[in-house]
Amino acid sequence: MLVLGVETTCDETAAAVVERLPDGSARILSNIVRSQTEEHAPYGGVVPEIAARAHVELLDGLIARAMTESGVGFQQLSGVAAAAGPGLIGGVIVGLTTAKAIALVHGTPLIAVNHLEAHALTPRLTSRLEFPYCLFLASGGHTQIVAVLGVGDYVRLGTTVDDAMGEAFDKVAKMLGLPYPGGPQVERAAASGDATRFNFPRPMLGRPDANFSLSGLKTAVRNEAARIDPLEPRDISDLCAGFQAAVLEATADRLGVGLRLFQERFGMPRALVAAGGVAANQAIRASLEGIAARARTTLIIPPPALCTDNGAMIAWAGAERLATGLTDSLETPPRARWLLDAKAQAPAGFANTRA
Ligand code: ATP
Ligand code: MG
Ligand code: FE
Repeated sequence: MLVLGVETTCDETAAAVVERLPDGSARILSNIVRSQTEEHAPYGGVVPEIAARAHVELLDGLIARAMTESGVGFQQLSGVAAAAGPGLIGGVIVGLTTAKAIALVHGTPLIAVNHLEAHALTPRLTSRLEFPYCLFLASGGHTQIVAVLGVGDYVRLGTTVDDAMGEAFDKVAKMLGLPYPGGPQVERAAASGDATRFNFPRPMLGRPDANFSLSGLKTAVRNEAARIDPLEPRDISDLCAGFQAAVLEATADRLGVGLRLFQERFGMPRALVAAGGVAANQAIRASLEGIAARARTTLIIPPPALCTDNGAMIAWAGAERLATGLTDSLETPPRARWLLDAKAQAPAGFANTRA
């Protein structure tokens, strides 16, 4: 099964061709990502209108390259998958409309993929992994603990009540004058910092639910930074290290609860898996090892390049849906918001059908 996937929900324009073999294993035949870092850097964050225009300009060329590199012709495709949301609506429209046009011209089934579902299923692209598993999804827009029970079958066990984890990294970077995109910058600065100099709050610690809160921590970093003048590189490193240490401790605590809730409701997970851009953070990856070991489960994290947004994850989620008989009509709408566990809450016009 050969699927073309396109990703345009935020500031990565991406296209990929992935093959799903009958035994459920995968081969990435091409995976081309063009980050719009330079376009947005002058503004210190993603500007939706600039992103949408860049997607329009870049996407056709990226799809052509992904097809050529894969050696697959449009006629050979079993499906065309696009991230139909959630995300910045201008970009989502570009990707979904392009995928619809390809589907229409070549008579290929369309698969409208939830971007979060694609993050959630990526570990099955890179590893042999059966359902159910416990997903820690930490990205620029989301921070969730999800029971992944099957393709299209997700139960959210916990979520952030305010900022997403990647958003908190980005905001901390910005307030300390580090360039956009901030997550990797904070990680780099933290590596040489003293995590004990500042004692930042560990939000939600000990709470019986599995929710996260990150905005108080972010504000605490801002308040400490405001007290230091001038802010030297040493201070920035220490602030980043203190912030990251607080994030790690909060994550360990919240995931501990999440894994316990998972076991109570669904039995032992086959693995703890992490996905989303924050899972590219080496300190977080290392701390997840300990969390998984304490819960006596294995840890699976896709390689960093597949944790951040890419086309292969969309193609793969499309292939997984196609393999279970799920395709979408050409009327399926782009969605700015789209909950992962929203089977019952799908908006009007949402036309997932079993073929
Ligand atoms: P969503 O998936 O929720 O729609 P998104 O697609 O923008 O949001 P991703 O591309 O999955 O998010 O991840 C980007 C986020 O990951 C950014 O907030 C970025 O700062 C963060 N991130 C990337 N690398 C690192 C890192 N090494 N350490 C911490 N955060 C990181
Ligand atoms: Mg991005
Ligand atoms: Fe993402």
